[in-house]
Amino acid sequence: MEYFPIFLDLRNQPVLIVGGGALAARRCAAVTEAGGRVRVVADRLSEAFEDCRDFEHLARDFAPDDLDGARLVFVASDDEALNERVSSLAREGGIPVNVADRQSLCSFIMPSIVNRSPVVVAVSSGGAAPVLSRLLRAKLETRIPSRFGQLAAFTGSWRQRIKQAIPDAARRRRFWERVTDGPVGEYVLAGQTDDARRLLEKILAAERGVAAEPNLGEVYLVGAGPGDPDLLTFRALRLMQQADVVLHDRLVPDAILDLVRRDAERVFVGKRRGEHALAQEAISQLLVDLARQGKRVLRLKGGDPFTFGRGGEEIEHLAGHGIPFQVVPGVTAANGCAAYAGIPLTHRDHAQSCIFVTGHTKDGKLDLNWQALVQPNQTVVVYMGLGAVAEIIEKLVAHGADAETPAAVVDNGTRDSQKVIDGTLSNLAMRVSEANLEGPAILIVGGVVTLRDKLSWFAANPAGGSLTHAT
Ligand code: SAH
Repeated sequence: MEYFPIFLDLRNQPVLIVGGGALAARRCAAVTEAGGRVRVVADRLSEAFEDCRDFEHLARDFAPDDLDGARLVFVASDDEALNERVSSLAREGGIPVNVADRQSLCSFIMPSIVNRSPVVVAVSSGGAAPVLSRLLRAKLETRIPSRFGQLAAFTGSWRQRIKQAIPDAARRRRFWERVTDGPVGEYVLAGQTDDARRLLEKILAAERGVAAEPNLGEVYLVGAGPGDPDLLTFRALRLMQQADVVLHDRLVPDAILDLVRRDAERVFVGKRRGEHALAQEAISQLLVDLARQGKRVLRLKGGDPFTFGRGGEEIEHLAGHGIPFQVVPGVTAANGCAAYAGIPLTHRDHAQSCIFVTGHTKDGKLDLNWQALVQPNQTVVVYMGLGAVAEIIEKLVAHGADAETPAAVVDNGTRDSQKVIDGTLSNLAMRVSEANLEGPAILIVGGVVTLRDKLSWFAANPAGGSLTHAT
């Protein structure tokens, strides 16, 4: 190990910064955040210092006695002679010194930091590969939940009590593991600290042998996005890796299911046409039953659970039975397909508004407000079964839409097998029927579809299906 990592207590400690540029400003901000008393010596300060607070500025050249009393020195100047002078004076005085981009002049180097105070992760490659440590830092940023610091503070506030309640160290460690990696931790990370506190009280009571209510599980209603696994949210992925059981349907592809914890039980609740009402009730009830067994239940839905996903109905049922739940939004098909097909949903030249409607028929009837859908300067996105395309287009034209209005069908959007068929209302239905699409698919209608000629960027993987661009 070339450098020894430590965390310094800088509260109320004098820290000297020589230089007034952007890097000096970043150091100043970091040190003041850690409670240090910063003094900056520089002729002038760059604009970057506008965001810094609570520091003293000496607008003059560096003088050796600026080092008096300093616990730490940062140098960030273009003046090579100055860099060397401050470095050697600081070393002589036994003060740790860091000179920006001059490792040989440093007695300590600065790590890349992931800040989830009070948890701080510092990464260093010992100066050998700063790009790698930044890369690693970026990975950690995505893996450590943003409220991780709150979780640390939460556990910190309970430490004494738990220590008294569970004197045995090994048992206490297991208790904490269960708490932080389980539903209590998840509550804190979702910002539900009151629920976290209540649940922890309950678990603690059970641990002490006090009769507690049976342990309730929880339901996570999670949007899996339109298909590309990279479009999952961090929280979706985290909950997928914690769940005891997952309920999924047709819209969630294997590439995403593969990311669910390996030993989680999988239940396919795909609905067959015409059996919706019954199946939906059965699914909602299954969620309640599994949660009552104390399980962490992941209800994984294609796209966004609150967009034509019947997620609202499922959690109404949960709420009615007092089952705790949380909802994680996902990229809805309209957004995913639009982006991956190069069709902006709004654009100042074409559409100032955008309407999402469902063209799934209820009792075999298409019941839409057609008048609203044929207004100018808007984009209409129709979530629908492929069989409905022709009828929807026919109705739009019958209600006054120009037959030359550009329109496209995006099939299997965001996936390797994505296909996009475009044209106008007059020819799209025919092109779609010739293309033998598989679904799921959405219909996008409006002038924005023409932008696809310029903005299309996603190349579907030919192994999974070829990109058709029929104009
Ligand atoms: N909750 C989902 C929608 C469920 S309704 C969401 O927010 O996306 C099912 C309809 O969504 C399908 O009939 C289809 O119209 C659309 N859909 C879902 N995934 C899709 C995809 N990858 N490509 C195209 N359409 C999709």
